[in-house]
Amino acid sequence: MQRSLSGFYVFAVAARHLSFTAAAKELFVTQGAVSQQIKNLEEELGFKLFTRKTRRLELTREGVKLAETLLYSFRSIESALDDIASLKDNPVREQSHFSSHNTELNREWVEWAIAKINSDYHRTADTNLIKVNLKAHPEIDIYFKDESTHPTGSFKHRLARSLFIFALCHGWVQKGTTIVEASDGSMAVAEAYFAALLGLPYIAVMPSDASQKKMDKVSFFGGKCHLVEDSSQLRIIAQSLAEEHNGLFMDQHLYAERVVGWRSGNNIAESIYKQMKEEQHPHPKWIVLGIGTGGTSALIGRYNRFHLKKTKLCAVDPENSVYFDFYQTGNPNLVCRQKSRVEGIGAPEVEPSFIPGIIDRMMKIPDAATYASLHYLEKLLGRKCGGSTGTNFYGVLQLVREMSEKREQGSIVTMIADSGENYLNTYYNQDWLSMKEFPVEEYYNQIDHFCEKGKWKELNLPSK
Ligand SMILES: *Cc1c(COP(=O)(O)O)cnc(C)c1O
Repeated sequence: MQRSLSGFYVFAVAARHLSFTAAAKELFVTQGAVSQQIKNLEEELGFKLFTRKTRRLELTREGVKLAETLLYSFRSIESALDDIASLKDNPVREQSHFSSHNTELNREWVEWAIAKINSDYHRTADTNLIKVNLKAHPEIDIYFKDESTHPTGSFKHRLARSLFIFALCHGWVQKGTTIVEASDGSMAVAEAYFAALLGLPYIAVMPSDASQKKMDKVSFFGGKCHLVEDSSQLRIIAQSLAEEHNGLFMDQHLYAERVVGWRSGNNIAESIYKQMKEEQHPHPKWIVLGIGTGGTSALIGRYNRFHLKKTKLCAVDPENSVYFDFYQTGNPNLVCRQKSRVEGIGAPEVEPSFIPGIIDRMMKIPDAATYASLHYLEKLLGRKCGGSTGTNFYGVLQLVREMSEKREQGSIVTMIADSGENYLNTYYNQDWLSMKEFPVEEYYNQIDHFCEKGKWKELNLPSK
């Protein structure tokens, strides 16, 4: 590679600070020198790394990608240099076959921490599986796994627990380690809970328009919220904050698919099948899920394969998300400029924990249909559910429709990932809905008619 490493280094430092002035200070050079180096690098690479906003600097999409890689790389160079230095100080180690890693690890504390999480788990009860039937389609049983009853109010509680156990077992977390995460809400609340349980400082890097309720809950558990204007920068900022605090960037999107044991054990898949055991149709035809990190679908899909289940997995995707298109085209470089309007699901770029191979089918659900479903569910279940439950339900209805056309009987399982109380100002607020001009009423009538009378009426909506 013909490129100058020093340009990359200057860029990495500037990206970490998001400021040329601060980078210049760290590098003992002038601000002009930093600016020039970055300009040279941009010319050499043929794309912009930063956009200059009034009074602040932002990374471009390309800049984010490059900075993430560079920060990891420079960090591993440094840790290799540390290892080499420790060899020099301690020649005995040269002959040792043992790694010098984690000699400082406070094993006693780690054991205490794992026991603490396990006993917390032991005190919690499993979540309910709620059964409903639609008036016009009584032959098909619909089940909602109600994950809103976890101590932190969403099924991210399970994932947070697994992430902490995973990090502890890897020796990544010790007494006092600051935990950092990039999250737009539920995950931050759940992780703040476990950080508090272990007495660890916690910082959630969140978009500045994240829900106030969720920020309040993070604070309730003693965590801090670090707000960021541009949500495409969440990960890079989380990573550099973690470095600054010598802490751990938990990185839910990277690890979600691998931290939960899927062969057996206490996971949501096993829980669903256990609870279905005495039902009339104990083997669901479908499990319907929205995709956020992709962790839950990866877990249930693998579990199904491994245990030779006939149950199929249907994933639902909201508007402003790339998962559906990625599933169709296999193109991993898709980008969506706008943010998903269904909290918890959808993503502007393909996240690493999304594993398309274990999904049997995918549907794109209009956001208006999601909101209408929420309002209908209020009638059906007598309660308010979180946004992704609406997307799930509209997906379920498509499958009910197909099954009933083929005169099939059976069961479908889906999830209530969180409760509606977080969304009173949005999905449940008439002004918010009318401001956005969603054709919610049309979808509501369609759903209502299908559930009560049995016929599916296609909508003739004017295209936007
Ligand atoms: C995270 C989340 C999902 C999606 O689950 P993943 O396992 O991350 O794919 C669905 N609904 C809500 C409310 C969520 O917070």
